[in-house]
Amino acid sequence: DTTWTGKRVTVAGLGVSGIPAARVLRGLGAQVTVVNDGDDDRSRAQAAELEALGVTVRLGDGATLPEGTELIVTAPGWKPDKPLFLAAAEAGVEIWGDVELAWRLRGHGRGEPAPWLAVTGTNGKTTTVRMLASILEAAGLRTAAVGNIGVSLLDAVLGDEQYDVLAVELSSYQLHWAPSLRAHSAAVLNLAPDHLDWHGSMEAYAADKGRIYEGNQVACVYNVQDPATEALVREADVEEGCRAIGFTLGPPAPSQLGVVDGILVDRAFVANRRKNAQELADVSDVDPPAPHNIANALAAAALARAYGVEPAAVRDGLRAFRPDAHRIEHVADVAGVAYVDDSKATNTHAAEASLAAYDPIVWIAGGLAKGAAFDELVEKSAKRLRGAVLIGADRALIREALARHAPEVPVVDLDRTDTGAMSAAVREAARLARPGDTVLMAPACASMDMFTNYNKRGEAFADAVRELAPERD
Ligand code: ADP
Repeated sequence: DTTWTGKRVTVAGLGVSGIPAARVLRGLGAQVTVVNDGDDDRSRAQAAELEALGVTVRLGDGATLPEGTELIVTAPGWKPDKPLFLAAAEAGVEIWGDVELAWRLRGHGRGEPAPWLAVTGTNGKTTTVRMLASILEAAGLRTAAVGNIGVSLLDAVLGDEQYDVLAVELSSYQLHWAPSLRAHSAAVLNLAPDHLDWHGSMEAYAADKGRIYEGNQVACVYNVQDPATEALVREADVEEGCRAIGFTLGPPAPSQLGVVDGILVDRAFVANRRKNAQELADVSDVDPPAPHNIANALAAAALARAYGVEPAAVRDGLRAFRPDAHRIEHVADVAGVAYVDDSKATNTHAAEASLAAYDPIVWIAGGLAKGAAFDELVEKSAKRLRGAVLIGADRALIREALARHAPEVPVVDLDRTDTGAMSAAVREAARLARPGDTVLMAPACASMDMFTNYNKRGEAFADAVRELAPERD
């Protein structure tokens, strides 16, 4: 490809997005340099593999812009105020993220590229994208759930597999670095403070999420109960004829999907003009049928309907869907107490959803707060708390919020950030809990202070629960 041959591209960051990006760009004939902050055994091994392909790798120096760089392709997590990007801005060099690269390369050298149905939001992205893929599959379409899950975006657009349509999960970081992305239809599920340390402010975070609507062709799907999402639709510049479609847990207005008498109904895409609503599925078809998850199902249904999927396939797809691990997962009952793993609750908005689903609760929380405040969460959940056990780097923030809004709730501050702290926390929680209670690990924080990721944190919790009751397998 002549546009890529010899083009000097700098890839920022070795890792899950950088390594495949470097390979693909090298394969297109670009002259690729990877810059990486870290210089450890793992990055040296990865560097050696890329060097064998003719890629230049600079370890331990992610700040200097390589001479002659024409384009930067960055890992989504790199903060916009990094020296590398400031140098790029000064030199007038464009910066793409992994999603922008996939978007520009889609259909490269092949037939018509598959349209994207895109999902973002503070919480529920993975669940919604997987529900959407399940619905599209039930409709007989060739599809995949892509993004942080399953197939990688680059593989989905460049691999051998042909798709009719893609269900794409996009984070706020990825959207920040994807200026030319244009989805068929897109949904913002909800907007609550998260990653504010990265984006700089709530306004900047919302603006990055709002990019998902830019240039939408058919539908901008928003959450009626979260007006900030609707505001983003109003601000977006979309294709002519593109509609704003709301979803709500209550009865839907025209142009909305919602719930009436335990049934998910569609008043936005009604084929038969004599009917004013189309029944899609029962609330009990959704697993689990908790309010936040019904919202996810409605968003997935709205995107599928925007793509033209029939109501029966929406129902079949939702019935076939099963949630992923570590998302409000019931681990075991021990001595009459239920143990629930919501390790994926990595921010306060997610933790609020699971804390609302149980009563009384012994809450295990703490980790990396990412600039969040805990007052609102604690205030809303205080009445349901039997007790709290705190672990992790930023636990003092939660302890202080508990002291302010729930002074009567017993708190055990473990003052630990080692991996073994989880098993100590579970033992403390078991001591506080009474039969009928739920011990809920919904940390409202990221896991990286103690664990590699939220999966490992969830596994540590489940292991600790099993240690409580060895006789129960
Ligand atoms: P994401 O991919 O956005 O991180 P997930 O689908 O993995 O979202 O869910 C993450 C956590 O967020 C879940 O464990 C649950 O606690 C919570 N959650 C899921 N959907 C919602 C929602 N619509 N609103 C609020 N919280 C949610």
